[in-house]
Amino acid sequence: MGSHLVERLLGRQDLEFIVVVDNLWTGKIDNLINDDRIRFEEADAETFHTTEKFDEIFHLASPASPRWYQQEPIRTIQANVNGAINLLDKLRFGGGFGFTSTSEVYGEPAISPQPENYRGAVDCTGPRACYDEGKRCTEAMLFELHGSTGVQIRVARLFNVCGPRMQVDDGRAVPNFLVQALTGKSLTIYGDGLQSRSWGYVDDIVDALARYFWLDDHDYIGPLNIGNDTEIPVIDVVHTIGRIVPGITVKYEDALPQDPTHRRPDLSLARRILPGWEARIGLEEGLERTLDWFREACEWTETPEPAHR
Ligand code: UDP
Repeated sequence: MGSHLVERLLGRQDLEFIVVVDNLWTGKIDNLINDDRIRFEEADAETFHTTEKFDEIFHLASPASPRWYQQEPIRTIQANVNGAINLLDKLRFGGGFGFTSTSEVYGEPAISPQPENYRGAVDCTGPRACYDEGKRCTEAMLFELHGSTGVQIRVARLFNVCGPRMQVDDGRAVPNFLVQALTGKSLTIYGDGLQSRSWGYVDDIVDALARYFWLDDHDYIGPLNIGNDTEIPVIDVVHTIGRIVPGITVKYEDALPQDPTHRRPDLSLARRILPGWEARIGLEEGLERTLDWFREACEWTETPEPAHR
């Protein structure tokens, strides 16, 4: 997501330079485009040090895949909360701060679709809590700071996203399924596959983020749902991949604990704040584009193992 957002930033006429801060925990430097206006700093968001002040800061630093954030829950909370605290310190007076929160703040939702004013049902002792609560706490801090200091914030809540530059060992459904399909392995469905998500394609999501964070003239601080509001069960994602890659097989595994059964954004507000924006790329096209990328861009030096829990 970060590398895609950087490419949008490079299109800005007013851009002097970008400092990209990334510890490469779940990403790769190869994803980042080469450009003289980019300075790359390999560092944690929460400890990155500089005396510079920035006009705009976009905080996307956090693993987003359950497989990765569950391995290092404390570090995930730190990346979000302490990352925001540390980065805010680098914002010049009057600057803007954008944060990517998550649909996970809604937990196992009691209503569908989920509007921004739905308060959610996150279990703070559950297996996803480090991510969900790390995002929630960062949101709370940003809204408090806006109230007390007037700092300009933008809080986006991203629903599921897939697309090029995801890692082979990411562990989320789309990269797992596509790598399994490409390597002739069975696609692993956790539970019965009837659980659903609203699968957005990265270009659509980054379009919305760029418009919300800097392109459009509005003063809405958030939270703003961003995603694709077509909700599709996991089993149908697998069937769609079966149409693109004939001959796949499927293996059912135990359901994940507290796996949300459904998730769908209410995009009424996004359509009002970003008039004309729509998620235009449907699941099948998004999967085809992502599959092409996995085929072409990954160096299959050895058969990669898709991630398991
Ligand atoms: N999932 C699956 N097989 C996999 C990976 C994920 O069936 O190999 C399911 C997972 O249980 C969940 C859905 O796909 O219900 C989406 O999982 P993902 O990790 O992509 O996103 P999240 O659960 O964070 O929305």
